[in-house]
Amino acid sequence: MIEKSIQDLRRRVTKAGKQVYDQGLVRGNSGNISARIPRTDVIIIKPSGLSLGFMKPEDLVLVQLKEQKGKGETNVSKEVLMHTRIYETRDEVGAIVHTHPTSATALAIAGIEVLPLQIEMFIHHPKKIPIIPFESPGSKELAEAVSIKMKDCDAVVLENHGIVTVGSTVEEACNLNMMVEDAARVQFMVQILAGENIVSWDKLKKKFKTQSISR
Ligand SMILES: [Zn+2]
Repeated sequence: MIEKSIQDLRRRVTKAGKQVYDQGLVRGNSGNISARIPRTDVIIIKPSGLSLGFMKPEDLVLVQLKEQKGKGETNVSKEVLMHTRIYETRDEVGAIVHTHPTSATALAIAGIEVLPLQIEMFIHHPKKIPIIPFESPGSKELAEAVSIKMKDCDAVVLENHGIVTVGSTVEEACNLNMMVEDAARVQFMVQILAGENIVSWDKLKKKFKTQSISR
């Protein structure tokens, strides 16, 4: 990949990071984002200690998948192992977005899986979003649990923590992340207004059955 394309990828990752920050899915220096440099075993990832809202393209750190060490001068994100394990597990994944939004996290603490309640989300991602039981942030255990679960799904909610989404592009991973939190917000409101029995995966599948797309 030529240098110009890597620069372009850095810009796109930075823009996606700012988008999730502006949407309130992360605060302060929390959350992280990465992208694979196509046809290589190298990713670019947010450094620790920087905000996704104010990161610059040149701040992103290069990491070899096997080494898991940053080549940049700043420290690499503490969730680097979670990112590298997902890339190693799924060749087609081009980007990963990890955020700490309120509604999806609250539902996960209550043991409630986020459902694609809006038709747009259902068409795009006609699946329940699994919950990963709590493991310490940055731990090997969390990296293993997430990468195993994400072998066959593109979005998960980490109990007491946040959302992880993947996509073939950083825009795709970022959009899915925002969509999951948006669905969680709707679900939260519906359950407060009408009680949890009004929403269920079976009722949703029945209602949207003609809209389902095979995946
Ligand atoms: Zn986190």
